[in-house]
Amino acid sequence: MSDTTAKPPALPRASRPRRYSVFAIAREAMRLHSGWQRAWASPEPRRRYKIVIVGAGGHGLATAYYLGRNHGVTDIAVLEKGWLGGGNTGRNTTIIRSNYLQDPSAAIYDKSLSLYETLSQDLNYNVMFSPRGLIMLAQTEHEVRGYKRTAHANHLQGVSTEWIEPERVKKLVPIINLAGPRYPVLGGLYQQRGGTARHDAVAWGYARACSAMGMHIIEKCEVTGIESAGGQVTQVNTTRGDIGCEKLVLVAAGHSTVLADMAGFRLPIESVALQALVSEPIKPCMDVVVMANTVHGYMSQSDKGEMVIGGGTDGSINYTQRGSWHHIEETVRALVETFPMISRLKMLRQWGGIVDMTGDRSPIMSGTPVGNIFVNCGWGTGGFKAIPGSGWAMAELVAKGEPGPLAADFGLGRFREGRFIDESVAAGVAH
Ligand SMILES: Cc1cc2nc3c(=O)[nH]c(=O)nc-3n(C[C@H](O)[C@H](O)[C@H](O)COP(=O)(O)OP(=O)(O)OC[C@H]3O[C@@H](n4cnc5c(N)ncnc54)[C@H](O)[C@@H]3O)c2cc1C
Repeated sequence: MSDTTAKPPALPRASRPRRYSVFAIAREAMRLHSGWQRAWASPEPRRRYKIVIVGAGGHGLATAYYLGRNHGVTDIAVLEKGWLGGGNTGRNTTIIRSNYLQDPSAAIYDKSLSLYETLSQDLNYNVMFSPRGLIMLAQTEHEVRGYKRTAHANHLQGVSTEWIEPERVKKLVPIINLAGPRYPVLGGLYQQRGGTARHDAVAWGYARACSAMGMHIIEKCEVTGIESAGGQVTQVNTTRGDIGCEKLVLVAAGHSTVLADMAGFRLPIESVALQALVSEPIKPCMDVVVMANTVHGYMSQSDKGEMVIGGGTDGSINYTQRGSWHHIEETVRALVETFPMISRLKMLRQWGGIVDMTGDRSPIMSGTPVGNIFVNCGWGTGGFKAIPGSGWAMAELVAKGEPGPLAADFGLGRFREGRFIDESVAAGVAH
């Protein structure tokens, strides 16, 4: 495994960004905030880079960051067709947890959670990580058995989770209705280290750190073609000209198959809309994240006071970034059973993102049939929590050409060989 203590390579003094600190805030307050620098540069694309990463979402940016931080590679461009973090990274409901069932999943999600715990310090950027605790409610006997099994598996994996009885659930979440009309709460799988972080800040913090290492983040730059010769990619065609590279990394979530088509191979991914909504802001009433998978909904309260609500994916393959009415209705109906007080709330905003689903609901971090193309996708409905861990593992794969222990089981070969990592229960709705 890579050296966890490696520091980013030093930049020339003039191009080093000023550190954010309490002293910096005081200094800027004294001079009417006239001295803040842009958080990341906006350079013109060069004609060639060692590594080109497609997609400036959390996973693309984290891959770039750990390539620089852990492996000393900084000749990198991250190409983004829209704006940085404007894909699923800026659209998700920010739930972070590592209570997965299978060993390879527990390893990468727990690595990610550990990195989140110190990410603000590492990036010198406040990602507002809030380990407020997370409960997955058991509302059927089947779920009771399933979550108890997960708690035992997590215990063996060294991941801290516990099974809790209904009385403890009520103590942690006073607004909950334990005696739901359809499904009473029978207990829950509790992960005290789980929680949330500010999604934009995660993207912005990584972008700032990448830019500080001299990497180019190029927004409004859509990849429209991929050219290969002799089984190796030579350059990408973009809306801002052709860009050559030695290695190409595709990190485009719901658009991964579109890019794979350009490169001439297929990915076992389906793209569907997943949507979320927030209420008007109210006073603090719930300081835990709660997921109710049987009734199909989950909820947390943002720092602004909005209740952040999500449900399941749309039933058909699409690229709409919108979502549909029947899901909003289904999700709200489900949550009203569990939290009757939300029936009096006004909903403020609704949005959707296009998530990349694999058959076993586990991600793909892999080489491809084109020798120097790598893919990182398939995080589906639950990849926000994985951003630091995935970036770490992907950087190792791209730098060395071979996966390290965290990525080894997530290669494309598993679909050919039938070595699935079945997380359909953990990832079906619970993000
Ligand atoms: C409503 C919703 C709720 C969610 N809730 C959670 C949650 O609570 N917890 C959790 O862990 N996960 C959650 N997720 C999933 C999570 O958001 C994603 O798994 C994660 O953000 C994926 O990050 P990414 O960097 O791979 O993709 P993205 O952030 O989507 O980034 C991919 C980028 O690639 C760019 N791109 C695509 N094609 C091209 C091209 N041709 N050229 C250049 N750029 C291109 C896109 O514009 C995009 O910015 C949720 C998702 C949604 C939609």
